[in-house]
Amino acid sequence: MKTLNSWSRREFLRAGSIGAGALALSNTLSAFTPASNKKLGIALVGLGYYSFGQLAPALQHTKNCYLAGIVTGHPAKAAAWKKQYNLQDKNIYNYENFDQIKDNPDIDIIYVVLPVFMHKEFTIRAAQAGKHVICEKPMALNAKECEEMIAACKKADRLLSIGYRLHFEPHNMEIMRLGQHQIYGKVKSIDTGNGFNFQGNNDNWRLKKAMSGGGALMDMGIYSIQGARYTLDQEPVSVKARQEKTRPEFFKEVDETIYWELEFPGGLITTGKSSYNNNWGYLHVEAEHGKFGLEPAYGYGQVEGYTSAGAMKLPQVIHQALQMDDFAECVWQNRQSRVPGEEGLKDMKVVDAIYRSLDTGEKISVV
Ligand code: NAD
Repeated sequence: MKTLNSWSRREFLRAGSIGAGALALSNTLSAFTPASNKKLGIALVGLGYYSFGQLAPALQHTKNCYLAGIVTGHPAKAAAWKKQYNLQDKNIYNYENFDQIKDNPDIDIIYVVLPVFMHKEFTIRAAQAGKHVICEKPMALNAKECEEMIAACKKADRLLSIGYRLHFEPHNMEIMRLGQHQIYGKVKSIDTGNGFNFQGNNDNWRLKKAMSGGGALMDMGIYSIQGARYTLDQEPVSVKARQEKTRPEFFKEVDETIYWELEFPGGLITTGKSSYNNNWGYLHVEAEHGKFGLEPAYGYGQVEGYTSAGAMKLPQVIHQALQMDDFAECVWQNRQSRVPGEEGLKDMKVVDAIYRSLDTGEKISVV
């Protein structure tokens, strides 16, 4: 994890100083756009909810990159996106001809926004096509797949980043500062949860283990794991977990609600939970000389934070626009993202250990 110590002061101030809305965003970032660099072209792979509802709109507010292309299996979606975003035919691909993207100079970055079981394949194919890659969370089905993705990107000499937008969100960044710099003293406890009440169609890939890798833990719990890790800037050494299901017939293959304890070096034990049955989204931290936290913590709507001194007064930003603009800068400067593949791998090691703990009922080492 890139710690606050290793962030340049400029990077932190930049994210912290960005106000809601595109104008503030573009004004703030423009100072960092090297004049000689053209905006980088991003192709979104998979045009589902997140691409349509969040990433494509955010790309209308980026300074360093733009929506240059799409990859989709649905010709009707391709036509609608082409019209809405004024895309060129030569920048529209499907899953079969995807590898031809290597010959397309308009596409610099491929953003994998597919069901989890497709993340590894398309990340590796993208890197082998010579493109830099952003892959959505959770990074892959398990830690072993993450390692293969990291190795493939290294071999192809391409940058890999995970869609951890909260590392660019001022309230979450403030939590990192408060926790990592021990502004209120040593952290004594962390409790965090994330979830929503999953309704609807049981054909959804999120309910099929082979496609999702798991349920709410993979989808929502990853944020709770991240929250504890980036408050402390430490990696947990072991985990103990238990689960409950109120709708076992609906969540046949995947977890509904999981509760866990992460043990960190030095003995601090933090609590976390994930759910497809509860609307959770909080991070509460108690330290020697005060407390701080977030609620709502992890969504891309409003984020609110507090400390012992009162409410945080920080701007709301378009997380994804900042995240993608930062990655474009990483490409220009040939530097690692603050959320590289290794960061996704660390979370998946914890996820794997939580599932092993559920299987065995034991405390499991995170390795
Ligand atoms: P979605 O179901 O809405 O979209 C998935 C897309 O993949 C669809 O366009 C679908 O047509 C396509 N697809 C291609 N092959 C498929 C197959 N074999 N089965 C099913 N779909 C197939 O999902 P989503 O909510 O857009 O999530 C996509 C990724 O984005 C996931 O990894 C998810 O965790 C992530 N996500 C991240 C955030 C965030 O805040 N960072 C938010 C939502 C989703």
